[in-house]
Amino acid sequence: MSEGFNTRAIHAGQTPDPTTGAVIPPLYQSTTYAQDGIGGLRNGYEYGRGTNPTRDALQDQLAALEGGAHAYSFSSGLAAEDALIRALLAPGDHIVLGNDAYGGTYRLINKVLSAWGITNAAVDMSDVGALTRAIAAGNTKMVWLETPSNPMMKISDIAAVAQAAHDAGAWLVVDNTFASPYLQQPLALGADIVVHSTTKYIGGHSDAVGGAVILNDDAAAEKIGFIQFAVGAVSAPMEAWLTTRGLKTLGVRMDRHSSNAMAVAKWLRDQPAVENVLYPGLEDHPGHDLAKAQMKDFGGMVSVSFKGGEAAARKVAESTRVFTLAESLGGVESLMNYPSEMTHASVKGTELAVPENLLRLSVGIEDLEDLIADLQQALDQL
Ligand SMILES: *Cc1c(COP(=O)(O)O)cnc(C)c1O
Repeated sequence: MSEGFNTRAIHAGQTPDPTTGAVIPPLYQSTTYAQDGIGGLRNGYEYGRGTNPTRDALQDQLAALEGGAHAYSFSSGLAAEDALIRALLAPGDHIVLGNDAYGGTYRLINKVLSAWGITNAAVDMSDVGALTRAIAAGNTKMVWLETPSNPMMKISDIAAVAQAAHDAGAWLVVDNTFASPYLQQPLALGADIVVHSTTKYIGGHSDAVGGAVILNDDAAAEKIGFIQFAVGAVSAPMEAWLTTRGLKTLGVRMDRHSSNAMAVAKWLRDQPAVENVLYPGLEDHPGHDLAKAQMKDFGGMVSVSFKGGEAAARKVAESTRVFTLAESLGGVESLMNYPSEMTHASVKGTELAVPENLLRLSVGIEDLEDLIADLQQALDQL
């Protein structure tokens, strides 16, 4: 029987060091490994781009937490995505992705991989009919899903999207960055591949950029492992070590992110300046029942729009003190983001553009009263 999530988070890949007994496996900065005679590798370690014990520990931990047979960690989320797409697709292949996909993912597919011959279409992934038509319209080999989506917080049915992708012989990739493996297990729901920006909730402390790919298919895994080795966008040892350390507390952090975010979302909804609050934990959110069925809790991300339009959103964004105005998300500290000019600037003017009166909050694990007081004083400035 598989151990519980928190036990796996703390112990997977974390065998005490056999030489010294160190309970925390050391950070192996070494780029190369001594050979006992030519080709006589100890435990298979040869050169740091190929394999590194600290990276292996993180990969074992990630595989155990997503319920996958294989995990590969990369120097960023986008490096992971690029390796995955180049490993499994070929020029002429088509990707269908969400029409509010992470801006950097859209830029990678639409501006970088397009030059390599990959085409794409962006659709509302929560509309299975529209998705099925979009898949049928091209030589679709991959469907790319984010749920909850960023920053519109749309919820899509992973099992239904998997069915639509598989009916067309396409892979389903789920970017599980927003939910984290603690709240959502896409492989168990039918997805083929999970990707992460480990920079966010997995690392959890805003101190290490990284990405990961997790999957079960052995042949696909071998191809991704080959690209990881041959291109070399691997996570550095220090980043892998910090990510492993952060990941051990993912469960307790996500519980607190979720309870703080729920309270912040409910509070915001009652404020007269607020037009709409997008949080799947709210019962009137269109994806609430689905989120309840496929997630353990609703996570730490809340988007909010203002009746006063762009000016009001900008004023609030620039008035908070506990919430720091910054890109990124998923750290223990609360962050405030104005997507249309920050995280989603790369999709401005495209069909993926984000409303200009919208703010995205990454609700941290500070004391709730301080977060509410901060938002209150910011709203008082309107
Ligand atoms: C940040 C992010 C990425 C990209 O990851 P990097 O580590 O910044 O390269 C991909 N998807 C989502 C949902 C993200 O939030």
